[in-house]
Amino acid sequence: MRLLKLSVYLCLVLLLTSCESVADSVAEVQAQKTMRLYVTVDWEGRSLDEENLEAMQQFRQRFPNIPMLQLLNPTYFVRPHPDYARLASDIKSTFLSIDTVGLHVHAWKSLTKHCGVAYQSDYSFADISETCKVGDCGYTVSLENAYSQADLTQLIGCSNDILMQHGFGHSVHFRAGGWQMGPKLIAALEANGFIWDSSVIDAELLLTRWHQDSSMIKMLRKLHPTATPLDQPYQLTDQIMEYPNNAALADYTTSKQLVALFQQLVDAEKTVMVLGFHQETAADFIDHLAEAIPQMEAIAKAHQIKIEWHAR
Ligand SMILES: [Zn+2]
Repeated sequence: MRLLKLSVYLCLVLLLTSCESVADSVAEVQAQKTMRLYVTVDWEGRSLDEENLEAMQQFRQRFPNIPMLQLLNPTYFVRPHPDYARLASDIKSTFLSIDTVGLHVHAWKSLTKHCGVAYQSDYSFADISETCKVGDCGYTVSLENAYSQADLTQLIGCSNDILMQHGFGHSVHFRAGGWQMGPKLIAALEANGFIWDSSVIDAELLLTRWHQDSSMIKMLRKLHPTATPLDQPYQLTDQIMEYPNNAALADYTTSKQLVALFQQLVDAEKTVMVLGFHQETAADFIDHLAEAIPQMEAIAKAHQIKIEWHAR
């Protein structure tokens, strides 16, 4: 009888202990924070070189779980080329099925001409001449400063149409070339049904490659005067959510700087980081991301934070 009582007692103790440990792990999961990371790719419309496409393909093999928001400039498809289907498949050779396609516009002269918009050569954010008789130019012309709202509305709509004609679907995600977004461009994005933008950036993040007195920095300080690396998503308009490019692009940030930016977000209990790179310089800079990611994952683990990768 005594043995039976002892067994019942032991069973109860075991049951309670296991209940407690289950409750503990439920609380742990509930307490675990999540950070949402976005890898964005700016396709500049300048070139599709093999070394950059290959660098992207290798990155995709190494991190097959990380989706990308592919922000495409349609200018590749308005310049003369013998095989547009091959261009499209070259671009798609860097995609995974988990990716999202969006739009990235620099107002190349060829693109404005194709879209029936009068080309503007003033307001270069790189302080260079953007007039050309032959070849293409216009890459550094500030969309917001150089173009009217009507022209921007037409340019954005036409750019989206070009991508659709080449099998890329209808974009609702956007980043302005040189982050040159203001009220006119916002209205143009609304008119074209965009719901997600990532054109806001803290100019300070670009000082690694742009001079304080450059038009890039001066224009961005005017367009996004309050931006900081701690910025989080917010409602830009009723229709558009802004996802500030709060970790810039890999051309401007070493892996060490990326890790420091991530740590800053963790310390400030922020939950969204928008980083990325340019397709046209992927071979030079994508490694900054590849080296930073395992370090960021280690920081997250140490803080019991779960990293989620998003592309929309
Ligand atoms: Zn760009």
